[in-house]
Amino acid sequence: MHANENDTVVEVETVLGPVSTAALGTTLMHEHIFVLTADSQANWERDWDEEARVADAVTRLRALRATGVTTIVDPTVDGIGRNIPRVLRIAEQVPDLNIVVATGVYTYTDVPAYFRHRGPGALPGLPDPMVDLFVRDIREGIQGTDVKAALLKCAIDAQGLTPGVERVLRAVARAHLETNAPVMVHTHPGTRTGLDVRRVLDEEGVAAARVQLAHSGDTSDADHLTELADAGYLLGMDRFGLDTMMPFEERVAIVVEMCRRGYASSMVLSQDAACHIDWIAPDLMPLLPDWHYQHVLSDVVPALRAAGVAKRDVTAMLVENPRRWFERT
Ligand SMILES: [Zn+2]
Repeated sequence: MHANENDTVVEVETVLGPVSTAALGTTLMHEHIFVLTADSQANWERDWDEEARVADAVTRLRALRATGVTTIVDPTVDGIGRNIPRVLRIAEQVPDLNIVVATGVYTYTDVPAYFRHRGPGALPGLPDPMVDLFVRDIREGIQGTDVKAALLKCAIDAQGLTPGVERVLRAVARAHLETNAPVMVHTHPGTRTGLDVRRVLDEEGVAAARVQLAHSGDTSDADHLTELADAGYLLGMDRFGLDTMMPFEERVAIVVEMCRRGYASSMVLSQDAACHIDWIAPDLMPLLPDWHYQHVLSDVVPALRAAGVAKRDVTAMLVENPRRWFERT
């Protein structure tokens, strides 16, 4: 990221290089290209066809771009199969779509074994090597490429603030303070883990406005989301299409209610979809027919408008809020 003399970030790193935040346009703030269990893939997957998978991703992303979406944010990090050389191959074939990528660690429980006996895992008080690795991804590039991460990503789920989750969250916070890259935290609103995130990030001195609480749309608890929005967090209403977890009508209704309460500037819309995810047996995917990149524009926005959400509120959620999150204001 580059700052001008007003200290406002005007460019965001994408896979194909920095772009002006003004050029981000319609942005899906939480989509994956691939979600893969790399070690298990290498051990068990007989059917992986790299060329076919890359071609399929290119086709899906070109189709998404044709609907008017100009940017996707892909928060795939350590733990869910980040492979930036592969993403770069794909991005080069869809050059008019901005693809923004992340650094971080994804775990609901312990740190990955790689980190278990490094830094504070080896001796209390040692600095966490994750911090410098995250900073390296942001400043120098990821996995030997020139592609730089534009955001930090970690997770807390129903298991709560385990020691491993807390260690990653604090490392993400420190890398944020060093780089000013915004922070996305996968949360579990059903157990109000956003409040754990707030406590830890407050202790670390991270401003709420730079933090996105992903998967906030997985609850119908408008009072809980209001508390988080009032604290300054950006709320990811970002799993449209995962209707087995929460039906479409309920996902729409909570966004409508939050808009009615005046919080359109605190939300972003996305699907958490992927071209391919190996966490789900392929024969079960037909249970999720709307879980794809085009659901938000095709179905969600019309439903929001029909329920009385103003066009300017939709623009806030799809264009202005993503831009502001990447800018230093
Ligand atoms: Zn995700």
